[in-house]
Amino acid sequence: MTAVLIFLDHAGASLAKSERELLSLAGSLGDVSVALAGDAEQTYLDGIGSYGVQECYRPEGDVTQVLVAGKAAFVTDAVRAAGADVVLLGNSYEAKEIAARAAIRLEAGVITDVVSLDDELTATKADFAGSYTVTCRVTTDVAVLTVKPNSFEAVEAGAPVSPREVRIPVDAEPAAAHITGRVDKPVSGRPELSEARVVVAGGRGVEGNFGPLEELADALGGAVGASRAATDAGWIEHSAQVGQTGKTVSPQLYVSVGISGAVQQRAGMQTSKVIVAINKDADSPIFEIADFGIVGDLFAVLPQATDEIRKR
Ligand code: FAD
Repeated sequence: MTAVLIFLDHAGASLAKSERELLSLAGSLGDVSVALAGDAEQTYLDGIGSYGVQECYRPEGDVTQVLVAGKAAFVTDAVRAAGADVVLLGNSYEAKEIAARAAIRLEAGVITDVVSLDDELTATKADFAGSYTVTCRVTTDVAVLTVKPNSFEAVEAGAPVSPREVRIPVDAEPAAAHITGRVDKPVSGRPELSEARVVVAGGRGVEGNFGPLEELADALGGAVGASRAATDAGWIEHSAQVGQTGKTVSPQLYVSVGISGAVQQRAGMQTSKVIVAINKDADSPIFEIADFGIVGDLFAVLPQATDEIRKR
């Protein structure tokens, strides 16, 4: 039986959607244990247990104050303690760095950006800004994989059960850098961009006014994203950027508003299930990949769309 270890780095009361996806994927591959860095509330631990996780490895001491080095050491030690064959992580920049560092320590192969995985651990991922779809498999004993959100179904959990907690000493190297403070993200009440089922993203065409996009996003229960032109202009925070140098999203619905559809933007959103483009230029490249397109002024189209959706 394959032994799968998931690295989770969360401190909330409940599991995030991407975490439920990881737990569901892991459960389909074999026996699952979790390496959990940082604090977690009891409801969170119960949530992990409800996916059949028997063991939850926790570090002795705090590995969260030394950037990624401590977490990478913790993952490595947890993999050894669990005898894991497969290690699954999320797909954030930090998770990818932890994956790379842990893979070096474990002399394991690593695949990032996984969007599908079969029983033989053959993975699919996009490369070169989405220009190629690559099929690949790790050939070492341990496989380290980072998994894109929205790529796997999150199955229903069972009854809440607390997994057995196993504290492990972490063989971390002396840290070269320590975290001295954190800036909390402002709470928007919207879903996390990379996990949202609906994303409404704006580009240079919004001319600094994201208000109509936020209204539509709220009517659809979605998140707000942006092109680099919009984030570079300072109209919205950089964490909202979608694309090659921003976040990769794969929602059920991506509404692209006033975005031309450059290849670097596509790299972050072209795997969306349905793409709706609103652009006043009928020749804009975004229409090449859109499932539905509206040629028109976004400031006229968006309020009408939001009104119609609110009526339903
Ligand atoms: P534009 O290309 O200027 O397009 C604006 C669009 O809005 C036009 O199509 C226009 O017709 C339309 N429009 C204007 N007014 C209206 C209106 N009133 N109603 C409707 N439509 C309107 N870009 C990203 O997005 N993400 C990345 O991660 C990223 N990474 C990059 C990495 C590198 C190394 C490089 C070189 C570039 C990267 N870029 C990235 C930039 C990318 O090449 C484009 O420059 C950028 O995506 C353009 O943003 P835009 O579509 O918002 O702006």
